[in-house]
Amino acid sequence: MDKRVRVRFAPSPTGGLHLGGMRTVLYNYLFAKKQDGDFIVRIEDTDQSRYVPGAEEYIFNCLKWAGLQPNESPLHGGDYGPYRQSERKEQYTQYAEQLVKQGQAYYAFDTPADLEKMRQDFKTEQNPSPQYDHGIRMKMRNSLTMNSDEAKRLIAEGAKFVIRIKMPEHETVTFKDLVRGEVSFDTSVVDDKVLLKADGMPTYHLAVVVDDYLMKISHAFRGEEWLPSAPVHVLLWKYLFGLDKMPQWAHLPLILGPNGKLSKRDGAKFGFPVFAMNWTDPKTNELTEGFKEKGFLPGAFINFLALLGWNDGTEQEIFTKEELIDKFSIERVHSGGAKFDYEKAKWFNHEWIRKTEVGSLKSEVRILLNETGLTGIENPMLEKVITLVKDRCTLLTDFYDQSWFFFKAPDNWDVDAVKPKWSEDKKDFFLSYIDKLSTISNWQLATLEESFKTLATEKNIKPGDLQLPFRIMLVGGKFGPPVFNIVELLGKDETINRIKKALAVF
Ligand code: GLU
Repeated sequence: MDKRVRVRFAPSPTGGLHLGGMRTVLYNYLFAKKQDGDFIVRIEDTDQSRYVPGAEEYIFNCLKWAGLQPNESPLHGGDYGPYRQSERKEQYTQYAEQLVKQGQAYYAFDTPADLEKMRQDFKTEQNPSPQYDHGIRMKMRNSLTMNSDEAKRLIAEGAKFVIRIKMPEHETVTFKDLVRGEVSFDTSVVDDKVLLKADGMPTYHLAVVVDDYLMKISHAFRGEEWLPSAPVHVLLWKYLFGLDKMPQWAHLPLILGPNGKLSKRDGAKFGFPVFAMNWTDPKTNELTEGFKEKGFLPGAFINFLALLGWNDGTEQEIFTKEELIDKFSIERVHSGGAKFDYEKAKWFNHEWIRKTEVGSLKSEVRILLNETGLTGIENPMLEKVITLVKDRCTLLTDFYDQSWFFFKAPDNWDVDAVKPKWSEDKKDFFLSYIDKLSTISNWQLATLEESFKTLATEKNIKPGDLQLPFRIMLVGGKFGPPVFNIVELLGKDETINRIKKALAVF
């Protein structure tokens, strides 16, 4: 029987969650859900110097907003906890010691000064930054270069040491990556990575392997920046647990900007998924606006994210989460970098706003309008307004520009746009139109439009010449949905009031 599908997203709480990280979450999630498996979030916080308070909470807020909830995590519990590596410290030492016993790792007592001296002494033009590797290790202070009693004595005396993996010389490590196919590495080019640090904490390399084993992870998806570390991890699996237990790896391609690599600045420009309150980016010390604040719908966000590096083999672009779960397969993830285009992301959002029912948009739009000071909005009016303007909104935030004037009369008007073509005849038209509007009992789009045209014809003015001033009277400027739709929604009294107020200014 195949083993149960268990996947993990393993972020380090060191800052914001960017597009690449969110896509890793999404592919993990889709893969797990499709196979009725478990999606686990494990916090990899063994590097205390890079820890950022608030970052963990922020990560969970992002997942919640995007609707990608884990089955197990520090927040959600589970049978394989604790899910924070800092709380699992004791579990790692025995494995590092086991490797030393097996001759696959060793104690290294080098001080920072020793390491610096090594870098200086062995620096050459061909090798400007020498690594602690098979060529160097026998020239350093470690349990391979001293007799075993001496190493034991140093440890007993409380000397500081780390445990390093002893990378084999000229071995080829090969594994099958689910995205890239067969991948091979020559172990000679990989340094003797530290596995256990002087403070007793494991490094990422040891912790990721031990935890993937203890948490029974079946597939490990991560960004391709981790590919160079893969040979170390594969060897650790071989030495400690056996390759038959190793998860299947999938290294996901980088996300690129429209013109190449997605830089940190692009990251800031295009935002992070969620803007958690009071969370500032420690690198810039600024509150970072995210896709949520920019006005993306979670459904649209995961839709465009899924397509950054994957498609289902057809031309289909709009997918619900359920469809993505149904269609997703890791075999269809491309190995080449995926291009992120912000304009295309907005197109997805526009499509999503169009297809989302008014009822589901209502609370978001209400919050947005309330935040700008528009309060006391009644439900039936809000629903009518959303129905009228939703096709014109690319981002949720566009709802404000497209609709504030339904809830508040303009208090200034684009007079410059009206004045050059304004005339006494036109003023006279609007005065008569006020009278006409007051007699209309059937306040409907067709009647309103018809009455306007009839009166214009009677007065010998082209209706088209009257529409712009009329719009500016109602909303203040050259924007908004079709003018008679606005009139219909504003109602008789409000329309007449607005015409009167504007006529006093024009
Ligand atoms: N902690 C690593 C990171 O922050 C996780 C890499 C992995 O998934 O193995 O990216």
